[in-house]
Amino acid sequence: TGKLFVGGNWKMNCSKKQAEEVIGFLKSGKLSDNAEIVVSPPAPYLEYVKARLPANVGIAAQNCYKEEKGAFTGEISPAMIKDVGAEWVILGHSERRAIFHEDDALIGQKVKHALSAGLKVIACIGETLQEREANKTEEVVFRQMKAIGDNISDWDKVVVAYEPVWAIGTGKTATPEQAQEVHVKLRAFIKSNFQKDVRIIYGGSVTGKNAKELASQRDVDGFLVGGASLKQEFVDIINARQ
Ligand code: 13P
Repeated sequence: TGKLFVGGNWKMNCSKKQAEEVIGFLKSGKLSDNAEIVVSPPAPYLEYVKARLPANVGIAAQNCYKEEKGAFTGEISPAMIKDVGAEWVILGHSERRAIFHEDDALIGQKVKHALSAGLKVIACIGETLQEREANKTEEVVFRQMKAIGDNISDWDKVVVAYEPVWAIGTGKTATPEQAQEVHVKLRAFIKSNFQKDVRIIYGGSVTGKNAKELASQRDVDGFLVGGASLKQEFVDIINARQ
């Protein structure tokens, strides 16, 4: 298998000072050559962070709109993200879905537009605790995956992030077995519906401590890290599979 893909989603946490601190961890730590690393600061800091990052670390926006430009106050477009030097965008994050009411259709349109504008996409899916307990995990992640997959023109430019909502920011990490179980099913779903293979990364309370065992799972191709991506332990997560 290829490199471990490790994304750091800073969410709405940043200042120039904090960005410099995180960049400092990345510069002083020894980063495995066997990892593809992307960090995702809030949009106002994309260019600032990009200019200071080591060359082997990529950069992602946390969201974008489905149009190139126009009267959409408060939104940013893939063209703008590219223009300031970022090559990735995170789409479909559960916080966008839950707090900002983004549905599968909108996320699909965003994926389509971002790819056509030349961005690479980290596309997020995942079930809530209620859905898991109702045995709806597969149904939910397959539905979300279908809405995204129908809009993918180039699968090499996409990474799918499986992020169970109950594991995000809760300290309740999925067990390696729970992650592997969903990843393997997703991979089969994508194969049978789209005849494609794609990188599938896990997100939800990943830490420097649990990353190694998760990374050893056959179908876990990397991580999307929230809280721990702002800390020194992000380097340990990057190096989870040397
Ligand atoms: P935490 O790592 O803080 O649980 O967040 C995960 C996440 O939402 C990454 O996108």
